Formats: sequence, structure tokens, C-alpha cells
Amino acid sequence: MYRTRSVGHIKGYNMDSEQYFMNTYHRLPVRFVRGEGACLFDDTGKRHIDFTSGIGVNSLGHGHPALVKAVSEQAARLMHTGNYFQSDTAEKFAARLVALCAGARMQKVFLANSGAEANECAIKIARKYSFMKYGAGRHTIVTLQGSFHGRTLTTLAATGQDKFHPGDFNPFTGGFVHIPPNDADALDRALDGSVCALLMEAVQGESGVRPLDAGFVAAAAKICAERDILLMFDEVQTGAGRTGSFLTCSLYGVAPDVVTLAKGLAGGVPIGAALAGEKAAGVLGMGDHGSTFGGNPLAAAAGLAVLETVDNSAFLMEVVRKGEKIRSIIRSWNNPHVKDIRGKGLMTGVDIEAEAWGVLERALEKGVLLLSAGANTLRFLPPLIISDAEIEEGLEIVKTLV
Ligand code: PLP
Repeated sequence: MYRTRSVGHIKGYNMDSEQYFMNTYHRLPVRFVRGEGACLFDDTGKRHIDFTSGIGVNSLGHGHPALVKAVSEQAARLMHTGNYFQSDTAEKFAARLVALCAGARMQKVFLANSGAEANECAIKIARKYSFMKYGAGRHTIVTLQGSFHGRTLTTLAATGQDKFHPGDFNPFTGGFVHIPPNDADALDRALDGSVCALLMEAVQGESGVRPLDAGFVAAAAKICAERDILLMFDEVQTGAGRTGSFLTCSLYGVAPDVVTLAKGLAGGVPIGAALAGEKAAGVLGMGDHGSTFGGNPLAAAAGLAVLETVDNSAFLMEVVRKGEKIRSIIRSWNNPHVKDIRGKGLMTGVDIEAEAWGVLERALEKGVLLLSAGANTLRFLPPLIISDAEIEEGLEIVKTLV
């Protein structure tokens, strides 16, 4: 295992990463100082091919001219005013975002700063929707085992993985049940009269890049519609073009009631969004929810630059093609140590025999950045603008490590 390296050699600095930060992250021994497209450069000048995009955030890569221009111009003009006031940039962004999600019949959006916050908003919408219509007691939210929905106490409770529920943080928010993915009967059994919503990722990212079965999603959508249970998709990782569709739930042909987005939506500036369709768009009223930073002009300008780039069918088709290319190259290795290859668009999971973290550390030494998704799964979330040449170069290195 690596330890973080002292930065004493950098002029003006004399500290170690572990000295001042709380010990929450296992930081790898590299310090990036610059990025360009799908590459990052560390403080020794070494170039790394980025298959991580900051865990699915740098959708347009590093230093994308349109994003840099939008953020710098907005920073110079007006960075923040607070949600007491109107903002031309935030209005443009919200209008474009809702329009882009019109295929999924979204009508309104609440802007926040992160995926967890977007999901908190979705959870509040679901509970209030049900409370207004049916009164108290119908507040349970069903989520899937293996899901990941965030790190607040409520979104951890929503997360369907026991490792995220240690006793140290008790009590977690109540009112969540976790069912196995792709099991419509289990969903049916979970509906005991106390359920107001189903929240799920179309492709489970953190737990291994596992797309849901189309049959299950269709059955779940039908059950939810029949029983007036809100169908909510957590598209924090899968959304904003990552899978080659702006929303991945659209690939399943279902119309959700609520969709959450974050990560890649503003290409690196913190953002979160909870969108709602006809049933849920009017649920939250004055004072029901809020956020100091949520959708501020800086984040909105970044988001708008991302939407202007991603809202383009040729761009999205390229995402699909490049994702297929990654998976077909890995398949072509015919490596018996590769156990499974899954994914959609530029979201790929590869099960390997070895420990993923070890491969990730060796890849770093060779100038390739990878993610893991569980002990034996490598996860590839490259910037959506990655080139064919970068894919080939990066995978040629990964090939030698698995
Ligand atoms: N939902 C999903 C599907 C995620 O992948 C993540 C983060 O990895 C979150 C929610 C939480 O997002 P954030 O870390 O921005 O709060």
C-alpha cells in the first residue's frame, strides 16, 4: 500500500497530505498540477491517461475551451448572489436542462451542489408527494441492494450496501428498504402500503457497473404507475451523457417521476439537480427546500457549457462508439484472468481475478488512471471527449497488468 508523499519539495509548501486533512481518503501518491483533454500531468511533469474523470465528473475532460471560457467569463462577471435573487445564467441553464430531459417528461428542476444533495431532494419530494395525497405513514423508499446514493446519513440509509451502515453512525435515517436488483417479485412483496417511491440507478456504478435488466425496469415502472409509487432514477453517475444518452433511463423507455443528476453535469464545478415530471414537479413549495450555493451563476455557467456540448446527437453517438471500443479491445485480449466485461457508453466494469486496487496502483506507476468498483472490478469512466488514440494507448498498458 502506498503512503501519501510529502510535498516538502514544492517551493513554498512544507506539509504532508496526512497532516491537516481528516483521514477519510486513501490518496494515491501522485499530485496533479495540470490537465489537458483526457490527460493529467503530475508535479514531476509525467503524463497520465485519465480513465477516471474524477469519478465521472470531468465529462468534457480537462481544460475544455468552452467550459474554461464559460467559467472564467462568469467568474469575472458574477459568481454568486444567493437564491433570494434571480439569475440569467441559472435560468438559461435550468431551461436547457429541463428541455434536454423533456423526452423523460421532466418539467422542473431544483439545483443543489452534489449527488447526495440531489438525492436528498428527491427523497423529500417523494415523502411530501405521498403525505399530501395519502397522509402520514406512506414514507418508505425502496432502493436496490448494491446501490450507492451518497454519504449523508439519509443517502447512506438509502444505499443498499451493508458496508456503508456501520454502527458508528447510528441512528441512520429510517424508512428505507433494500430489495435485490432485477427482482420484480421482490419489489411487489416490498409494497406493504408504507412505500412512496422506488429509487434506483439504471447502471449501478459504485458496486461494479451493473446495468439493470430492461425487463425489470419495465415491470418496476408498471408497478409504480399502478400503485402511485414515484419512480425515481439516481442518474448522478449515469446521467449527463455518460452512457451515450443524456439520461440512461431513456434507454429503458420509461418515464420516471424524478431524476437526479450531479457529477458530469457541470464538468468539474460542484452541482446537483433533482428533476421532476408532472406528478412531482409541484410538490415542493416555498420554504420546503433550499441551498445557499445550489445552482449559483458559476455552477450554472459551467453546466450550460456542458449541456451545449453534450446536447448533440453526433457527440452522444461517439460516446456509444468509444464505449463499445473499450469493451471490444478488452474482449480481444482473450485474457483468462478477465472474468466479465459490462457497461453502457463510457461506463465500463471489468471483473478480474486479481485485486482491482493492486492493478490500479500499478497502472498509476505506468501513467494510466483507473477506478475500482468493488474488490475485483476495474471501472473505466473516461472523459467523454477521450480520443481513440488515448483509449488504445491506455488499454495497451492496462493489458499488461491484469
Ligand atoms: N449517487 C450515485 C449513483 C453516485 O455514484 C454518487 C457518487 O459516487 C452519489 C449518488 C453521491 O454523489 P456525491 O458524491 O456528489 O454526493
